[in-house]
Amino acid sequence: MLFYSTNKTSPAVSFKEATINGQAPDGGLYFPERIPVVDPELIGNIRNYSNEEIAYRVIAPYVGEDIPEAVLRQIVKETVDFEIPLVKVNERMASLELFHGPTLAFKDIGARFMSRCLGYFLKDETRKVTVLVATSGDTGGAVAHGFYDVPGVEVVILYPSGKVSPVQEKQLTTLGKNITALEIAGTFDDCQQMVKKAFKDAELSGQRFLTSANSINVARWLPQQFYYFFAYKQCVEAGPDPVICVPSGNFGNICAGILAHASGLPVPHFIAACNANDTVTQYLQTGQMPVLQAVPTISNAMDVADPSNFVRILEIFKHEFPALTSKLSSVSISDAETRSTIRSVYQEHHYMLDPHGAVAYLALQRYLANHPDDRGIFLETAHPVKFPEAVESEIGHSIPVPAMLSHLFSLKKKSIRMAADYSRLKEYLLS
Ligand SMILES: *Cc1c(COP(=O)(O)O)cnc(C)c1O
Repeated sequence: MLFYSTNKTSPAVSFKEATINGQAPDGGLYFPERIPVVDPELIGNIRNYSNEEIAYRVIAPYVGEDIPEAVLRQIVKETVDFEIPLVKVNERMASLELFHGPTLAFKDIGARFMSRCLGYFLKDETRKVTVLVATSGDTGGAVAHGFYDVPGVEVVILYPSGKVSPVQEKQLTTLGKNITALEIAGTFDDCQQMVKKAFKDAELSGQRFLTSANSINVARWLPQQFYYFFAYKQCVEAGPDPVICVPSGNFGNICAGILAHASGLPVPHFIAACNANDTVTQYLQTGQMPVLQAVPTISNAMDVADPSNFVRILEIFKHEFPALTSKLSSVSISDAETRSTIRSVYQEHHYMLDPHGAVAYLALQRYLANHPDDRGIFLETAHPVKFPEAVESEIGHSIPVPAMLSHLFSLKKKSIRMAADYSRLKEYLLS
């Protein structure tokens, strides 16, 4: 399979090259030159297949010859080796819980798959490979855990000091070994600017092989299809196929779901749940893409004003607006509504939502109110314990810490404090 750039001026490349490059040289995103069709027998008898087998069959056509079958099967096995349950919340809505991985967020799936692919592709590379990533919270932890102890790969994570939650900070700063956390005295944007400068710095790239673990990387994007199939497998009750609602920021997650559907997975409709950052909500209403500034919200992993993966959704629909709007709609939810949803769902259904899941819950509920014969699934993308400030004030008590996290709090934070100044980062990377 070849991947072309959505900007159409860079050459098409293999899965391996697309994974190593991250972004195409012309600034576009890589997109598969054809969308594979999943065997209808797999869909029809999906309950007879293990998650590993489903995931392998979904991803194999994209990877092609670049990874031998036995290696790819092993990578897939390690990627999906935790529970992804579909939990009924009320008569018409179920939650696909994507937070049972090592860092309690859905990004574990993409980060695990990508880190193992990259580890395989770079095993013969003689230079030391440095994965450089800026995080506002969830990405850094997932990437750090994905690459932990991968031979030949060093990971450097920049995060804004005091602006990630306590659990997130522990997940970033306690691993050690090949993982280094740089605690930047600045904002997430400062971190991202510093990383961008490093990638453009010829002197630096002459000395270190730098690569990114950005969410636009095909090896992070494509495996996110897996759990849409796992959700379908768990829909055992008779009735219409459920619509799917995805809390969206950079739109990689929902785009993977739409790709799964384009490959044959039955999904009648997708809903992109957004917080106050409603660029796509506006676009789907007006046909015009507004130019907005990101605003901070309590569902901060979705505070994105210019969602980079949206261009891939346009590509799937061949830029045909009516086809797009018949399959995808979008709802924007305020922080006040998010808070009251966390509260009411806990009181009425005894289900604890995190702020991102709450945005999705309410967006789905609004859609279902206008579509009385439908039912739906929303994606719960993070464990509530990652966002205690927003959740605990609504549910009225502290969140029980999951067993897999309790050890985290006894570990010692190790970070290197750094000013928000690119020359300091460069100095560090060259030392
Ligand atoms: C990253 C993230 C999102 C947004 O996902 P996109 O693929 O960027 O749309 C939603 N929820 C949580 C918890 C996240 O970490």
